[in-house]
Amino acid sequence: MKIFEAQHHAEAHFVAGLLQTAGISAEVRGESLYTTVGAGSSIPGMRLSVWILEDRKEGQARGILAAYMTGEGIPTFSDGPWKCPRCGEIHEPQFASCWNCGTENNKE
Ligand SMILES: [Zn+2]
Repeated sequence: MKIFEAQHHAEAHFVAGLLQTAGISAEVRGESLYTTVGAGSSIPGMRLSVWILEDRKEGQARGILAAYMTGEGIPTFSDGPWKCPRCGEIHEPQFASCWNCGTENNKE
């Protein structure tokens, strides 16, 4: 059954991944559609939705989606920008070491 309609490709695969992580068989399905852009012309596109293969897990799946919708299920970097202890450069959290002097970020 269809459990979720995604806004874009990445979201569809992210949601399917969330469900699979929880042990629910899920897959992304796409359907072609044409979006009218005015003056009678249209552009081809794809609407993606996420389907679960075991309908009995609908309740569990909807719980996961509800958490996702409220932001609880979205992985985020747990900490913010960090400052290099040697040279003082400020870095985004996804960088593991200083681009300026190579000092590693020692996350305590
Ligand atoms: Zn540095």
